[in-house]
Amino acid sequence: PYVVTQACVDIKDRSCVIECPVDCIYEGDRMMYIHPDECIECGACEAVCPTSAIYYDVELPAEDENFRTVNADFFAEL
Ligand code: SF4
Repeated sequence: PYVVTQACVDIKDRSCVIECPVDCIYEGDRMMYIHPDECIECGACEAVCPTSAIYYDVELPAEDENFRTVNADFFAEL
């Protein structure tokens, strides 16, 4: 799945939410989160994010690697 990373924190532009065809991007207190089981890996969100906060999981920069777990854990706690 695609993953939202640090660059979204306290920004939450939400352009991605409008683009996502399956509505799998959810709002948390400080950032948006992509549901890993619902994402169909279309890439639409990545293209529109103004802070380039979204990555395909296998392409995550090393410094944002932990956000794969951060996104998944958000839904595990619901
Ligand atoms: Fe939604 Fe597509 Fe982004 Fe997955 S890659 S979160 S399906 S817009």
